[in-house]
Order: sequence, then C-alpha cells, then structure tokens
Amino acid sequence: MTRASAHPTPSGRVVVENCAIATVDARDTEYASGHVVVHGNTIESVGPGPAPRDLQGVVRRVDGTGHLATPGLVNTHHHFYQWLTRGLATDHKLFDWLVALYPAWARIDERMAHAAARGSLAMMARGGVTTAVDHHYVFPRGAGDLSGAVIRAAAELGVRFTLARGSMDRGESDGGLPPDFAVETLDEALAATEATIDEHHDASFASMTRIAVAPCSPFSVSTELLRQGAELARRKGVRLHTHGSETVEEERYCRELFGMGPTDYLASAGWLGEDVWMAHCVHMNDSDVEVFARTGTGVAHCPSSNARLGAGIARVTDMLEAGIPVGLGVDGTASNEAGELHTELRNALLVSRLGPHRETALTTRQALRLGTYGGARVLGRHESIGSLEPGKLADLVLWKLDGLGHASIADPVAALVLGPAAPVTLSLVNGRPVVEDGRLRTADEDEIARSTRDEARRLARLARGD
Ligand code: ZN
Repeated sequence: MTRASAHPTPSGRVVVENCAIATVDARDTEYASGHVVVHGNTIESVGPGPAPRDLQGVVRRVDGTGHLATPGLVNTHHHFYQWLTRGLATDHKLFDWLVALYPAWARIDERMAHAAARGSLAMMARGGVTTAVDHHYVFPRGAGDLSGAVIRAAAELGVRFTLARGSMDRGESDGGLPPDFAVETLDEALAATEATIDEHHDASFASMTRIAVAPCSPFSVSTELLRQGAELARRKGVRLHTHGSETVEEERYCRELFGMGPTDYLASAGWLGEDVWMAHCVHMNDSDVEVFARTGTGVAHCPSSNARLGAGIARVTDMLEAGIPVGLGVDGTASNEAGELHTELRNALLVSRLGPHRETALTTRQALRLGTYGGARVLGRHESIGSLEPGKLADLVLWKLDGLGHASIADPVAALVLGPAAPVTLSLVNGRPVVEDGRLRTADEDEIARSTRDEARRLARLARGD
C-alpha cells in the first residue's frame, strides 16, 4: 500500500504570535492580536495576546506582527493537468471550449500529469492553499499511471490532497461530447477507480491522501457509470464528486436526452447525499436548491471559471441560507489561468454582488469562510481542518498585510479578501512548513516553471501531430 509519507510528522511546539487571527470557528472569533500554538501536527491553543511564556519544547517562535493568521485555504475543485493547456480557446463557452481542448488533453502522459500537478499545486500552495482536490478524468490508453503521478506530486509538495478519480465513457458515438478516443469503457473506468482507492485512499483523521469517485459530467458519462460509480463509492466509504448544472447548454442536453434537468438526472442515478459534492451548480431552480439542502449535497463554487466560460452566477447566498455546504474551487487552469484560490475569495464576493440578490450578497467574512471551513465541510473534513481551533490539524497560513498592497486597510479580513493576493510569510500543512517568506519550501519553483513550460510545449507538439 502506497502512502503519502514523504513528510514525517513534525515534533515539538511552534508558536505564532502578535498577529491578527481569524479563526473561522462557529462564532467567527477574531483576535486583533493573538497567538496560535502548534504541537506536532495539531493546533494546541488559539487565543488573544502572546502565547504563554512557560511552554515546553518550543522549537520555533514566529513573530506575526503585521500579519493575519487564518486556516489554510481549501480548494474543492480543480483539474491539474490543465496547467499545460492554459490560455487556449480564450473566447469560447464551455461546450466549444471542451471540444477545442479534448484532442490535446487526450495526449497527456504520466510525465506531463506529474509536471502539471506540480505546477498547479505550487501555484496554489504559494497562495495559501493547504488542501487541494484534483478532479482528473482524462486517461488515454497507454499513458502510464496518471493517478499515481498526481498523488506523488501532492506528497512531494506536502499539500493535503484528494484525488477525485474521474472518468468519461460517453464518447461522441454514444451522444456524448468528448471524442471516442478520449474515453474509457465502463468496466475500465470502474476497475481503475476501485484500484486507485485500494492503493491510495487513507481515511484517517490526519490523512494526506484521499480518493473520491468522480465521473466527469452528465454529457461525458453513461448513466450506468454514474449508477455503478455511486455504488462503488458507498461500498468503499469514499466521497462522490462530479460537475453539475454548469451551463444552459448542459441543462438543455439533459432535458433532451434524459427528459429532466441535471439535478433530477443525477438524483435518479444516486448522486445526492452528504457524501456528494458537485462543481458549479450555476443553473439551480428553487427545487434543486431545496433537494441539495435536504440531502446535504455540497457545492464547489468556481466563480472565476464560471465567468471565464460565460456560464453564469451561482445562487451562493440562497444555498448558504438553505444550509447547503459550499466551498470554493479554482477549477482547471484552462478556464481559470490564475490558478490560485485568493482570486476565488474575491470573485465569489464580487460576482455575488452582481447577481440578482444584492441585499443578501456575500460578506467578506462569508467569502473567507467559503474558502476555508466551507471547503472542509464540502470534503467531509470539517472535524479535522477548516478552522483554527484546538485539536484540529495544523493547517494554517500567516498572510503578510503590512506591505504596499494592504498596509492602509485597517480590517485584516477585508485586506485579505478585497486587496491584492497577500504574500504568505508562512503556511503549515499538518504542522509542516510548506511556504516561507513567499517561496515554496518543499520544491523549487523555478524548476517547476521550466518543466511545465517544456511539458506544455511537448503536449502542443503532440496535439499538432508534429
Ligand atoms: Zn471542472
């Protein structure tokens, strides 16, 4: 059994103090100046003022003056491989964009998947993400162990990780959107997904690697793959993830092919419940919102991608009011080239205020909650991550807010959410430093930049048939 054990659990106590703190606990407790004590991989205490002076075994003391400490950001939806196809089909909507990109995606191999995952993870980690999801659904024949490559990359960078093992089995000849050469068979997809769970899924409290069952979307997957995928996930006790209700075209596709909208269709295949989260959910009617709330189905809100592809504005405040778990997602970097979660905090707030419900639009605190605790809840990990509270895992970020971009904003949460992307002075994942002074500690950013450039060029050459 392979486990993400590249980074041993740290020992001793790390003290962070003299910083503002937004705990994102149930009461949104904040401290203008406070401390966090980390012991090993666990948060031991959080409170106002400096840490107690008589603590034993302190291996490091961080002066957080001019900083804000928050829980690490949680990215609930992404497609890492797209790091190699950024900036293409820049003026297309979803279906045309997919059709333009499938041929290139069908050429990826293990080396590309590994490089792209490192690029995606490095960008996110440097911007304060401590937990990430990769929804990977392109598995060309003979491409090598793509799932293993992505999981290895997350372990190398030290980011807490869920691989949503995706799949597509509805090619063009079955009425689907992807070309036939880009899809697996039903049996291949199910067998490979089960093998990935058996090899890599770790259900423990401090798990660094989890697997979810994640057929891609209603227009690229057979009903049978959805149905049997749901059965597999429940038999194995893992979560279920897919795309849903992203565009009006998808709505039309589902009505024409299945005689119902995406939510009813997915429900008919067993795809609602507390163990399910769906990306986008832009085109939800009142009944869809009600059934998501009643079943506890979660939503990965991806405002930048939805804007980039002209998909629309999700009803996030209605979802929150109804009690639906909502987190944020970068989505793939072919539809959100920035590839960082800070942009999503900001854009979730801005887009919400452009929607039809301006009076109840998102607040800055809600935006931060979506990107932290909300994401943890969507991934079913809110008992262990998502807020700064004693007993939780030490996933935290210290944002530098005393520089040019933020120093004139008195409210640190407003500075973080509304200001430019704040430099990360320190991020801990499972108690381990992943970023220090704005640079990755676990990998060489320049080497990653070079290898992703080289692999993107190699993919472009293969796609052109050179
Ligand atoms: Zn997506």
